[in-house]
Amino acid sequence: MRAIVLGSAGSQPIPMAGCGCRLCTLARREGGRAVRTGPSLYLPEADLLIDTPEEANLQLTGHDLAPRRVAWTHAHPDHAAGMRVVQFLARSAGRPVEGWIPRPLYPVLAARYPLDYLVDAGYLELRLVPPDRPFELEGVRVTPLAHDHDEPVFAFLFETDAARNLYAPDHVRSLPVPEGPFGWVVVQMPIPPLEALPFELPPEHEAWKNFYTFDQAVTLWRGRTRRLVFTHIYERAGMTPDELDAVAARAGDWVAFAYDGMELAADAKPHADEAARLDAFRREQARIEAAYADDPKRMRAELRRLWDRYKSSG
Ligand SMILES: [Zn+2]
Ligand SMILES: [Zn+2]
Repeated sequence: MRAIVLGSAGSQPIPMAGCGCRLCTLARREGGRAVRTGPSLYLPEADLLIDTPEEANLQLTGHDLAPRRVAWTHAHPDHAAGMRVVQFLARSAGRPVEGWIPRPLYPVLAARYPLDYLVDAGYLELRLVPPDRPFELEGVRVTPLAHDHDEPVFAFLFETDAARNLYAPDHVRSLPVPEGPFGWVVVQMPIPPLEALPFELPPEHEAWKNFYTFDQAVTLWRGRTRRLVFTHIYERAGMTPDELDAVAARAGDWVAFAYDGMELAADAKPHADEAARLDAFRREQARIEAAYADDPKRMRAELRRLWDRYKSSG
């Protein structure tokens, strides 16, 4: 399953207006990978855009894309403030854009952004969906996974017969990490190793509560995914693309930091025998989810056992 990381920035773009830090200076001088726009992902197979940062229109025109569907992860401006791009897409296509929104997220998005205006004007057709239940887009099963967070935040799981991938660009610490094998996962960046950070991060800093460390993230995903890509790259981390590459290289070539326009190739999918194994895994997973629907604790325990068996048989 292919994907394009349209924007790889964290909550602030690089360069940022008025900022003279070395990252923003580098980005103004050299452009290329040093420039980062707001976090978003495009999934060609489902013709689906995830999130509309402020630069959404530029991101889409830069890749000559006109998606017919948009989904949102949460209501923070770096993920939603460019929502009016829906109006441009609808006017160009002559039909409304489909807006796939996990139900608990709708009121928050509508309170902060012109969502209802887009709907009333006929630019957006709402498809409100329940959390943690898959819906199907062009043969891709898409599941919004609810984070354990005080406001509604979702990650998206994408599945086909041959592929299983995850996009969790923000607040990844509050995501109950789904069991099972992945081709690629694109997740919020962790705290880089301290000796690589260009500044001190004191032990009492709140970042330690909200982020995984690099080692934790690599340990968490090792064996679970063929490819681990960190996105939502913070301007405040103060690290250039080359410096981040050097950090990723410590873990091996299955780990990378994203950049704007990064393509995730379809080759990060399981091989044929693995696909059969994955199929059996998924059938068993569906059985467990149905059997223990009323007992989430038991369900998680059974899913963990299933995952352990899957791992050890691989
Ligand atoms: Zn964000
Ligand atoms: Zn800066």
